[in-house]
Amino acid sequence: MVLVSGKEVSNKIKDEIAVEVEKLKKNGRKIPHLAAVLVGEDGASRTYVNAKVKACERVGFGSSLVKLDSNISEADLLVEIEKLNNDTEVDGFIVQLPLPKHIDEQKVTEAIAPEKDVDGFHPVSLGKMLLDIPSFLPATPYGITEMLKHYNIPTEGKHCVVIGRSHIVGSPMSVLMARNSYPGNCTVTLTHSKTQNLAEITKAADILIVAIGKPEFITADMVKEGATVIDVGIHRIEDSSKKSGYRLLGDVNFDEVAPKCAFISPVPGGVGPMTIASLLKNTLLAVQLRD
Ligand code: NAD
Repeated sequence: MVLVSGKEVSNKIKDEIAVEVEKLKKNGRKIPHLAAVLVGEDGASRTYVNAKVKACERVGFGSSLVKLDSNISEADLLVEIEKLNNDTEVDGFIVQLPLPKHIDEQKVTEAIAPEKDVDGFHPVSLGKMLLDIPSFLPATPYGITEMLKHYNIPTEGKHCVVIGRSHIVGSPMSVLMARNSYPGNCTVTLTHSKTQNLAEITKAADILIVAIGKPEFITADMVKEGATVIDVGIHRIEDSSKKSGYRLLGDVNFDEVAPKCAFISPVPGGVGPMTIASLLKNTLLAVQLRD
């Protein structure tokens, strides 16, 4: 069993990006700048946003954090987004999801200028992905393809089963795995909450990508011997023995499933760091596409 270390791959990507930033500096060009919008005080969201800001520092990007009150109206949030759209210092920005219930996430996503949409959630970015036009790929699926590439995991002709059809993970992941390129060329089955006999389908998977959002849902009996398993899920489970007060679990029961796998990504240290690395890659791409 080979551990697919997103931590290791993301560090390599960050080193490569840092070299590119140095080149830009040397040539007197603008340093890429990523901004993040955080609405409210959700603990997990704050942790993710802080990690993104820290990653910017690590590669030499500029970064800024726009912190907004959870009571902000949708209209006022849209004004903040318009400011970022027009700010020439900012090359790309993200709005950390989820947003408070009174705000329409789709409306907010669509308000982001497509050329600054480094999360890759805008309809223009998703449309370009479908048409194989270079653009911003959604950060998490993009990170997963980079992991598969790094470990030379064969994909052509393989049966890839994706669990979950969210717009930010499962659906775009299924598109990327079916593309006529590497990684890709898989026969893809996209499963969701209405899928029947899920275990029968997952057992037939050469590559199983799990984004269901249920802790340790995938057990050993649901996985084929020699499969590649990528665990997208991330859950904070209360644990008083930890300094933080919680431990992290994925959607896969790692201890049970790992011995059956050819490749498996852990939680933490798997997909999570790759999502951040992809965001940085997309921000660099934003600069390159513009110049
Ligand atoms: P989501 O809740 O939007 O989607 C879950 C999907 O699972 C849905 O499409 C649903 O149809 C499907 N589903 C639910 N029950 C099912 C069942 N019994 N059988 C088959 N499918 C079923 O979740 P999401 O935003 O895609 O996130 C999934 C997980 O990944 C969450 O734990 C989330 O925190 C995590 N996540 C991690 C990262 C990262 O960077 N590591 C990024 C995004 C999401």
